[in-house]
Amino acid sequence: MSDYVGDLMASVKAKNPAEPEFHQAVLEVAESLALVLDKHPEYRKAKVLERIIEPERVIMFRVPWMDDQGNVHVNRGFRIEMNSAIGPYKGGLRFHPSVNLGILKFLAFEQVFKNSLTTLPMGGGKGGSDFDPKGKSDEEVMRFCQSFMTELCRHIGPNSDVPAGDIGVGGREIGFMFGQYKKIKNEFTGVLTGKGLNWGGSLIRPEATGYGAVYFAANMLGTRNESLDGKVCLVSGSGNVAQYTTEKVLDLGGKCVTFSDSGGFIHDPDGVDRDKLAFVMDLKNVRRGRIKEYTEKYPNATYTAVDPSLDHNPLWDIKADCAFPSATQNEINGKDAENLLKNGVYVVSEGANMPSTPDAVDKYIDAKILYGPGKAANAGGVAVSGLEMSQNSMRYSWSREEVDNKLRDIMKNIHDACVGAADKYGTPGNYVNGANIAGFLKVADAMMDQGVV
Ligand code: NDP
Repeated sequence: MSDYVGDLMASVKAKNPAEPEFHQAVLEVAESLALVLDKHPEYRKAKVLERIIEPERVIMFRVPWMDDQGNVHVNRGFRIEMNSAIGPYKGGLRFHPSVNLGILKFLAFEQVFKNSLTTLPMGGGKGGSDFDPKGKSDEEVMRFCQSFMTELCRHIGPNSDVPAGDIGVGGREIGFMFGQYKKIKNEFTGVLTGKGLNWGGSLIRPEATGYGAVYFAANMLGTRNESLDGKVCLVSGSGNVAQYTTEKVLDLGGKCVTFSDSGGFIHDPDGVDRDKLAFVMDLKNVRRGRIKEYTEKYPNATYTAVDPSLDHNPLWDIKADCAFPSATQNEINGKDAENLLKNGVYVVSEGANMPSTPDAVDKYIDAKILYGPGKAANAGGVAVSGLEMSQNSMRYSWSREEVDNKLRDIMKNIHDACVGAADKYGTPGNYVNGANIAGFLKVADAMMDQGVV
């Protein structure tokens, strides 16, 4: 670690104690950017990185709501408005009991670089709550969303901050929040993305993150004149990103053999075909059940429950070619990465945000596999959110093919920007450096133009 990065990290840790995920995200970016800052002292003089690390605004609020039995609950709501140098704050809302300030700051920080990579005019933000939608009735979720939006609506707007979904926030939650925003503000605008198709949503938005992660993998394979055809793929999670990753892998001739949730994972050596995927979509999106049920319906598959005593996740210890981590942060540790490499995996395309620990990332880089970090590989979701904003502004909607073609082009451009920046700064093939540097430069130049604000 250079002196500059060491000093920077000491200050970040002192100012932001007990936020390990935020420290992790900043360190990874700072290490990549050391290459740029050496060549561009003007950025260092203007303290551009130091300013990007400090959120422009952090909003924290009480979210009281009543359950079906009349009991009152109190959750905490957040919105991190991280950086608006290149456009309105943009980034998802996460509802999960693990949510805290540090996790949302890491996600908002990553979002700044990701949104810049999409080439669309979007700044970075993130938000959410420690509310757990699992096991709640639709009415309870609605009351929570209404209470959350009653406060959040003071801070967002179609030209200032445009939230979307993330873990625990899908079409149902976006609908409830949009309804409440509209009622309070008396305006119909594109203040949220991920909306329903008949009230301002974009075609391909639900599919975009998963499809994009697969397009990114296909682009990486293209650099070796290979394709996804015939490839065996490991997928974690079973939510939005995991489902559409599996669908696009099927479209491109590959075979996904796993799904997981917080209870455990299923392994289906025959592969998840379209009927099985439809079963999982119904299980997770409609019945809101557990992935374990997959093995009751398809007895050839096995279920392995999470074992907290293990130092690794056996999902990543299955023979395969590609891995698409699509659940949550730090779900692949150093031991898991060793297992992936040992089992023949040479493509990792991250649908989730920061799913690999720094130790795991070092192992991928040392092994020179095709590793697409989340801020590049999963940028398709926010890219189509950006396209949803454009369609809302025009009061017009593009066809499925138009949006999918734009998504495919954006993922190719992001891929090529990462390759170009990694080459230019002397680390060819390193998509981590490529993504961090390419994402940073656009934001940094905008901040230089706009003065010390
Ligand atoms: P969903 O809520 O639809 O699905 C999340 C999945 O991950 C579920 O299967 C969930 O299982 C599992 N999961 C979540 N947290 C944990 C945990 N702590 N331990 C184990 N499993 C967990 O979310 P998404 O599919 O939208 O998001 C998945 C990842 O993709 C996240 O990292 C998110 O930030 C990232 N992402 C999402 C985008 C989007 O457009 N939706 C855009 C870019 C990135 P369970 O239900 O049991 O909790």
